Amino acid sequence: MHKDPEYYVRGVLDQNRLMLARTITLIESTLPAHQELARTIIDRLLPYTGNAVRLGITGVPGAGKSTYIESFGILLTEQGHRVAVLAIDPSSTRSGGSILGDKTRMEKLAVNDRAFIRPSPSGGTLGGVARKTRESMLVCEAAGFDVVIVETVGVGQSETTVASMVDFFLVLMIAGAGDELQGIKKGVLEVADAIAINKADGDNVMRAEMARKEYQAALHLLMPDSPNWSPPVLTCSALSMTGIDRIWETILDHRHKMKVTGELSAKRKRQALEWMSFMLDDGLRGWFFNNPEVKTALPLLRRDVENGILSPTAAAGQLLGKLKGEGIQAED
Ligand code: GDP
Repeated sequence: MHKDPEYYVRGVLDQNRLMLARTITLIESTLPAHQELARTIIDRLLPYTGNAVRLGITGVPGAGKSTYIESFGILLTEQGHRVAVLAIDPSSTRSGGSILGDKTRMEKLAVNDRAFIRPSPSGGTLGGVARKTRESMLVCEAAGFDVVIVETVGVGQSETTVASMVDFFLVLMIAGAGDELQGIKKGVLEVADAIAINKADGDNVMRAEMARKEYQAALHLLMPDSPNWSPPVLTCSALSMTGIDRIWETILDHRHKMKVTGELSAKRKRQALEWMSFMLDDGLRGWFFNNPEVKTALPLLRRDVENGILSPTAAAGQLLGKLKGEGIQAED
């Protein structure tokens, strides 16, 4: 493993795929020396980032995400774009097993010169996985990828996490048996910039169209996030590659509107600040809980609180007091 950050920086800027992959491996490493190196590399690459269309895609398992990303990615590479696909899979953070799964996904895109696919980092908390994906996105941008797709599964909290790191969030749905709105969370609709009803092919076309109308009606009830954008509901077939180009046009239309109104740069600034707050919270928590005195005292104090011997406030105060010497004060 090379220790010189410039080696990686140059490799990434030269659009060397192997160096891109190695840099992401450093980002994903849990070794402090690797993390330190990764931070330096990202800092140096920062001036070369920010130029991609950052796109989030979610959908329940089976909605057709990988089929869609494959078709969509091929369309974009044919148009001359360079497409990076990253993933956040909340299931892999817990069990090591993953919903987004195996290497056989997106077979055609995987061997395309203009595409780069990286599976979800596994292990750690959702926040940790999100950090790795977010930093990997920056490195992909520096390596000249002008479209970065972050994929996640429509379960748990990962949708809002992904929405907070992209410019456009696409929710893939499939037509059900009349109960279209069942099973999807309102929170997902709130962060959607567009919904696409997938599998609108064969004898499913009518049902997809009905679902489209239902979702559109549901979206009308929500306050739009931006005064300049009402999230549309479209239909597509990832398998027969219909409606995919329409979705890309929608993304470009959104981008144009957000750019001229200044909303895109405001959104990215807001996301960067939110990210900084998150990293601070995360770092403080880590620092606190890794303190040896805290580690020793925590289980004892938890037991005392459980048994009603000590109040929760007093217990928290005692724990925070352990860090007084390190400059953290317990709140009054
Ligand atoms: P994911 O779990 O969301 O990534 O879904 P997949 O892309 O693996 O697709 C799940 C299943 O739906 C597979 O059998 C696909 O072939 C199928 N599928 C995906 N997109 C379409 C589509 O547009 N039309 C039809 N008929 N089937 C599709």
